[in-house]
Amino acid sequence: MIDAPLLLYNSLTRSLEPFTPVHPGEARVYSCGPTVYNYQHIGNMRAYVFADTLGRVLACKGYKLTHVINITDVGHLTSDADAGEDKMERMAATQGKSAWDIAKFYQADFEADLARLNVRKPAHPRATDYVEAMIDWAKSIEARHCYQLDGGLYFDTATVPDYGRLARANTDAGESRIDPVPGKRNPVDFAIWRTTPPGETRQMEWDSPWGRGAPGWHLECSVMSKELLGHPFDIHTGGIDHREVHHPCEIAQNQAHGACAHSGARIWMHNNFLIDRRGKMSKSAGDFLRLQTLVDRGFHPLSYRLMCLQAHYRSELEFTWDNLAAAFTRLKRLVMAAQKLGDARAGASRDAPSPGTVALGYLTRFDEAVSDDLNTAGALPVLEEMLADKRIEAEIKADLLVTMDAALGLELTTLTRADLRVRPTSGTLTEAEINASLADRKAARAAKDFAMSDRIRDDLIAAGVEVMDGDPLGWDWRPTL
Ligand code: AMP
Ligand code: ZN
Repeated sequence: MIDAPLLLYNSLTRSLEPFTPVHPGEARVYSCGPTVYNYQHIGNMRAYVFADTLGRVLACKGYKLTHVINITDVGHLTSDADAGEDKMERMAATQGKSAWDIAKFYQADFEADLARLNVRKPAHPRATDYVEAMIDWAKSIEARHCYQLDGGLYFDTATVPDYGRLARANTDAGESRIDPVPGKRNPVDFAIWRTTPPGETRQMEWDSPWGRGAPGWHLECSVMSKELLGHPFDIHTGGIDHREVHHPCEIAQNQAHGACAHSGARIWMHNNFLIDRRGKMSKSAGDFLRLQTLVDRGFHPLSYRLMCLQAHYRSELEFTWDNLAAAFTRLKRLVMAAQKLGDARAGASRDAPSPGTVALGYLTRFDEAVSDDLNTAGALPVLEEMLADKRIEAEIKADLLVTMDAALGLELTTLTRADLRVRPTSGTLTEAEINASLADRKAARAAKDFAMSDRIRDDLIAAGVEVMDGDPLGWDWRPTL
């Protein structure tokens, strides 16, 4: 791949822009990472599937990619408006563990989910490793841009040009927030440093010129992106909620620190929400779906990745089990087609021939789709058409598949049918027992004992196993939805 010009939607300008790297030949990307006080829900994971797809497309286009996903292990309050409790400390108290142990546990769980979704391994710096650098940053902007209140050091948003441009906070269409902290100069001012109230101690606190305390949540991303990628860098990503508060605050800090109008990153990109019937999937809604929940119900994790790729990252995506089941079926078809190619290729004796015009036509269309602001939904049917096109030799198809899957990240060249058979954890039957029942049912049908065959099918349904007679993909059962 691939030489169509890459167009990306920049939330700063609300328009598509060609990607031109700050450092020739390189792409530097920073993605706001999770707050590791709890498990991630599948909505959070949509943000990283999107960031990973962006990284993959950049790498396919030959850029040397540096990608950072930070780990927020300090500083995030239960409300984005500098109010409420510290999320880490609250969970530590609930579970009777230290905040440090909470962070370690949920970071490991997050990284395992990234691996299961085939997200390449970006750097994962932890905010707590950058607190000294955050204090230095705050000192450097304090005199011109900050003021002190009882709660700590606050950023005066009137001291930088155009605060909230990203959020369109000054227009009817934009969102802004009303902040409850008394004494602030502007409602949108935010904490740079939160001083621990007298008489209290926090598990996570540091000495600073403004008293013992912890950094405000927005500071870590300014500091880590600058330390690890340099300012300006190419692309900053996050969920669309970050367009309203977190990223405008980050931009204000970057402007103050660099004494310039520059926002820190050239392009700011935001994925839309994963929603369910209640609205945005969120942890505060109580019961939320984790990747593990999907696996427990018999779905391969990459069927969730495919479900994300079927929608444009800027559209809302509704999660339903039917949607996921449809994505799983599509993944099965792709894996079966890819396996067939592998078999044909193994049987071939000569080197792969060079692709003809038909094959190159598919590659061009695929490239144009992913280059059009990551239109993976449009790229997937091109891959499927290519796999089904009898005019193309298997060896060439196999090569195209490798190239296309490098952008999609579905592991199509290594996944097997057997990998896709995920047994639901709630299942009461072992795979061997299911197969034995299916064999008994087959024998009953052959003997025209339909009462017996129906009884076996009903018993299987009661055990969470749906028999799939005549399934075109050759699957004989699946977990009931
Ligand atoms: P948090 O741990 O709350 O900082 O969220 C981690 C990432 O997930 C951020 O980029 C959020 O914007 C994003 N996010 C949160 N909820 C959703 C959702 N329902 N759908 C998509 N992205 C989300
Ligand atoms: Zn961030």
